[in-house]
Amino acid sequence: MKPLTMTRVADVDDALLAARATSSQYCAGGTTLIDLMRQDVMRPERIVAINRLPLTAIESTSDSGVRIGALATNSAVAHHERVREDYRVLTEAILSGATTQIRNMATTGGNLLQRTRCIYFRDPQSACNKREPGSGCPAMTGYNRNLAVLGTSEHCIATNPSDQNVALTALAARIEVRGAGGARTIAIDKFYRLPEDTPEIETSLEPGELIVAVMLPPMRGWHSHYLKLRDRQSYEFALASAAVAVKLDGKTIADARIALGGVGTIPWRASDAEAALCGVAPSPDAFRAAAEIALRDARPQSENGFKIELAKRCLTQALLEVTA
Ligand SMILES: Cc1cc2nc3c(=O)[nH]c(=O)nc-3n(C[C@H](O)[C@H](O)[C@H](O)COP(=O)(O)OP(=O)(O)OC[C@H]3O[C@@H](n4cnc5c(N)ncnc54)[C@H](O)[C@@H]3O)c2cc1C
Ligand code: SF4
Repeated sequence: MKPLTMTRVADVDDALLAARATSSQYCAGGTTLIDLMRQDVMRPERIVAINRLPLTAIESTSDSGVRIGALATNSAVAHHERVREDYRVLTEAILSGATTQIRNMATTGGNLLQRTRCIYFRDPQSACNKREPGSGCPAMTGYNRNLAVLGTSEHCIATNPSDQNVALTALAARIEVRGAGGARTIAIDKFYRLPEDTPEIETSLEPGELIVAVMLPPMRGWHSHYLKLRDRQSYEFALASAAVAVKLDGKTIADARIALGGVGTIPWRASDAEAALCGVAPSPDAFRAAAEIALRDARPQSENGFKIELAKRCLTQALLEVTA
């Protein structure tokens, strides 16, 4: 194994150059990367420390949206005035996760790329198709209580664990990246990849591409909310969560956005459930019907069937609360 090198950069072009080396990883807050290096799960040969890049700004955009720099910390985003006012779902999602100390370190870009909490992925002694492609998936017949029921494949059933990214999915955020080929913007529903037969490839990022910002569309006039259900009230990942945003027109729902967390291999946008709510008056029955649609393709494993009903109740309750 080659020795680990670290390059500290203060300029985006220098970061892109440094990351051209094979087996390099950007390090922002380090709360995912350093943990996984300690456990011998991620083994980069070069770390490109990007925490001094000038990518911390959170700004209003000309279309009344918000642009969040990739290095804005989770705390800075959650407490930002514009975010609290227009994107409550994002504030609630971020504050439901981790601890104050971790949120002060964790960054928007790093959160987008946090890795699954599947116990086999985090144990280098275990087989795991995501960590060692082709080695197998012990979770299929083993411990899978906290794993996914939507978007799974015969090769991987790992859950995407993030709260932030469920809210960003409901908000239809766009991700600005820069790489050797220039700059591009990726809609969040094109950013995450289903595991299919290559669970080791989690996003549509090219090697060495750097996330520089996340763009939120204008949401003035919408009501939004994040509800997270978990085994204990703090310091715990979601068993099921729902990020919802609705726009009301008098007594009916003019538009709706729904994403689910804790149940999908990617943050799970429920577009058919959204469509079912448009033009409908808010009611427990309408919300339960939307929840049935959102979970209709769910496939339980041996220990996680309970998540299907839990997610339906979570979504129904989140919609009731946001329209109350
Ligand atoms: C104890 C604990 C509890 C937690 N609980 C929760 C929780 O309840 N809910 C939740 O959602 N999260 C939770 N987390 C996860 C936490 O939110 C993430 O670890 C954090 O957001 C990652 O951000 P970071 O800046 O530290 O990323 P890093 O560790 O620096 O990086 C993570 C990955 O992203 C890559 N990367 C970072 N920035 C960029 C960039 N700009 N461009 C391209 N690649 C980049 C790195 O190369 C690395 O692969 C928890 C973490 C811990 C340790
Ligand atoms: S579910 Fe995915 S991450 Fe977990 S052991 Fe199987 S292949 Fe690995």
